[in-house]
Amino acid sequence: MSSNRGASRRPSLPSFLSGLGRAPASSGPGGPPRPQPQPRPVVKLKSPREINLMREAGKVVAEAMAEARLLAVPGGTTAEMDEAVAAVFRKHDAQPLFLGYPCSTKGKPPFPAVICSSVNEHVVHGIPNRRPLREGDVVSIDTGCKVGGWCGDSAVTLAIGAVSPDVQKLLDVTAETLALAIRAMGRCRYWSEVASLMEQYVKSQGFHVIEKFVGHGIGQNMHEDPQVPNFVSKALRKNDIRLEPGIVLAVEPMVAMGTKDVRTLDDGWTVETKDRRPSAHFEHTIAMTPEGPRILTLPEA
Ligand code: MG
Ligand code: MG
Repeated sequence: MSSNRGASRRPSLPSFLSGLGRAPASSGPGGPPRPQPQPRPVVKLKSPREINLMREAGKVVAEAMAEARLLAVPGGTTAEMDEAVAAVFRKHDAQPLFLGYPCSTKGKPPFPAVICSSVNEHVVHGIPNRRPLREGDVVSIDTGCKVGGWCGDSAVTLAIGAVSPDVQKLLDVTAETLALAIRAMGRCRYWSEVASLMEQYVKSQGFHVIEKFVGHGIGQNMHEDPQVPNFVSKALRKNDIRLEPGIVLAVEPMVAMGTKDVRTLDDGWTVETKDRRPSAHFEHTIAMTPEGPRILTLPEA
């Protein structure tokens, strides 16, 4: 849903790492949230066997991320990262999930790469390019693949060389927001409790949760119900997510140093903060099991 005044209230197609449709409640600048009729999401629970299959996709995503990370140095490019990730996917016969993803903006081309790479004020969905990264930049890398019919999805924000202390704090706080969410999933019964902890922590550090993009269920498709916001809204309280064994979620906090408001560039994809201050994004695919949350997109132990 767009937060622009006068824009259509028809829910957008899900973006690839996030749904735009039902969860965010803002109806426009300054306006009160507008309730919308919402079908209750159907959450497909996964069996232990299916979660093990998802782990195979998660391992490939982790290996791809490790390759991309090696290129996160001054002079490296996001196009090289994209090529490195594509090579890992080819090696494992994994299907990239982002390449060719349809754009939710009419008339814009499908996504042209296997990673999203979003530098500095770019929040998500940036398109890789040949511009050398510079010392002090931050780059968010997001990718996903399907192996044997099951998906994995992960994102990380990396510092290029030394970054300013406030930017380093932004990265640390966003990474910790994901970590605390995963820990909380082990003891909370409902997602709204987790989302509330995430939101409170980000605020306590002087930053802002970006609300236009949210996490998602994941399984045989990259985007399944439910939407997984990193903040609490009336919509979430009404359709809360029970954290029961078998639920698998892509949890992906996006945190802005300044305003949480974002806009999409003319390429139809790249999302940037309206004040053009930096933002960060971390994501893991996490399965709830009887033993607690299991992170499926970590490297092999
Ligand atoms: Mg992702
Ligand atoms: Mg995602």
